[in-house]
Amino acid sequence: MSHTTAELETLLMQRSLTDTQLLAAAETAEDFRILPDATVIKIGGQSVIDRGRAAVYPLVEEIVAARKAHKLLIGTGAGTRARHLYSIAAELNLPAGVLSQLGASVANQNAEMLGQLLAKYGISKVDGAGLSAVPLYLAEVQAVIFAGMPPYSLWTRPAAEGVIPPYRTDAGCFLLAEQFGCKQMIFVKDENGLYTGNPKTDKTATFIPRTSVDEMKARGLADSILEFPMLDLLQKARHVREVQVVNGLVPGNLTRALAGEHVGTIITAS
Ligand code: ADP
Ligand code: MG
Repeated sequence: MSHTTAELETLLMQRSLTDTQLLAAAETAEDFRILPDATVIKIGGQSVIDRGRAAVYPLVEEIVAARKAHKLLIGTGAGTRARHLYSIAAELNLPAGVLSQLGASVANQNAEMLGQLLAKYGISKVDGAGLSAVPLYLAEVQAVIFAGMPPYSLWTRPAAEGVIPPYRTDAGCFLLAEQFGCKQMIFVKDENGLYTGNPKTDKTATFIPRTSVDEMKARGLADSILEFPMLDLLQKARHVREVQVVNGLVPGNLTRALAGEHVGTIITAS
């Protein structure tokens, strides 16, 4: 037992779990990456899957080819159907936890569909990406599909304002990458990356190829290609210290990003 482990054990026996010295000692415990060779890719819901065949088929081809060289954890977004549910539920005055459950069901539908398309290649959709079969799938077929919504469900921490669940599929996929200590996190969406404004509504928006969380926050963007709360998760991450957002509508982008190329926007923790 190392010195720090012994110290931590003593603290754990004597203090409350809120004790600052105890928390600091827990922080110094050695790091361990559970799936260091794996990459998490998030396939956007609204931005990609909702576009149907034209967007999804080429990505399926890229995924099938890429998994020969990469171990892929493939998470899905929710998208337009979730937004429809959110609008109805919010109007009914239902709380964030209920909206979170509804959003999760749509991300799950998208994972189911992607699972059907990839089934003939032996790639399965799993119900919970945290379950123990994931390493086996990665070892055997180098890929697995999961629904990207974090399973906070009714226990969702509400946002400061409104009932839209603040941690949605961007956060869910990122948390998985970080908890598993994966080597890379790629968001596949429908724009080249982050712009100074939403390129769909702001024609003067300019492209930002690389930025840090602090720089991004300092810009005070009104809207973003990644969920804002995810930025705090990235900033505090131990393992996944940068993410890349790529345009999945451009053939080859995902493959190039997996190879480590800079094809979209790279957002760094520091
Ligand atoms: P997903 O399908 O993964 O859930 P979203 O639709 O939530 O993705 O987010 C991607 C969208 O974010 C893009 O299609 C784009 O229109 C929008 N967006 C908003 N603000 C920005 C910005 N500053 N830069 C780039 N895209 C932005
Ligand atoms: Mg989204």
